Amino acid sequence: MTSQTVSIEERIAELKKERNAIILAHNYQESEIQEVADFLGDSLELARKSAEIDCDTIVFCGVHFMAETAKLLNPNKTVLLPDLDAGCSLAEGCTAEMLKAYQDHLRAKLNQEIYTIAYVNCSAGVKALTDVCCTSGNAVKVVEQAPKDKHILFVPDFHLGSWLKKQTGREMTLWNGSCSVHESISRRDLMFLKQEHPDAITIAHPECVDGILDLADEVLSTAGMVAIAKKHSNQKFIVGTEANMIHRLRREGPTNIYLPAPGIPAPGEASCASCVHCPHMGLNTMDKLEACLRDGSPEVVVDPAIVPAARRAIENMLAIGR
Ligand code: SF4
Repeated sequence: MTSQTVSIEERIAELKKERNAIILAHNYQESEIQEVADFLGDSLELARKSAEIDCDTIVFCGVHFMAETAKLLNPNKTVLLPDLDAGCSLAEGCTAEMLKAYQDHLRAKLNQEIYTIAYVNCSAGVKALTDVCCTSGNAVKVVEQAPKDKHILFVPDFHLGSWLKKQTGREMTLWNGSCSVHESISRRDLMFLKQEHPDAITIAHPECVDGILDLADEVLSTAGMVAIAKKHSNQKFIVGTEANMIHRLRREGPTNIYLPAPGIPAPGEASCASCVHCPHMGLNTMDKLEACLRDGSPEVVVDPAIVPAARRAIENMLAIGR
């Protein structure tokens, strides 16, 4: 086969073999990356998978905190991220220094022990300061199992935390962070879309604001969205999350119709039918994936001083399950 006839997908497959590597991809990655991945999933599924797989190298197609989680669970494996700048607005809005200062303040103010629950969308440094992590897939269970004699501090997603308060009835202090992507869904245009498609089931991710969750028939993690898509056939869905999720849903429930929830239009534009894309996830491309497999970099490293505490918070979550 000449080099001109070898596709990028074939080159990635070859490089993967040479490195004894596995590609894990989040449901929000572009469709081409989803197609070459060995495993697709949400944060929890990929964290579990990374702890189980037998390989030398994990290529994590997602954002930095997810690759850090894989590294924490696999200290002896090389973990690569196609673009090290793939961050997250939630993780960036809550640093370890900010959290430590706020925990001290809250403990003194309430004169009570704090139980910190961190949504996995945070850095390893933040995880190291928490009692347990959660994902949107198991957050209700994690909150329900929190000790009753401690005050819960939930970080870093305010909207997920508000939804959890309603679901569990537990009083919590919420960190004031948010996902800029889920916040960009337009309530007005979602209402119009629902009116146009009264037969559609509206599903929304709990990172969305209250006004969007109020319009949803089901509030679901991305794993929950996959499950509902598999359960139905010839059903129309309006999907309130990052738009690449629709590629995954089409794979799992191919007879259904999926309509992306509309984003807030830019000033001067009338509508924005499909613009809910995560710019951080979008930094990973097929070219960068090939390059990182070829070069064995960029590699994700975690400060050894925080590894035991951060790992314990993730393992506490994995022990609770979905
Ligand atoms: S979709 Fe939101 S929460 Fe997910 S990586 Fe992007 S910014 Fe972070």
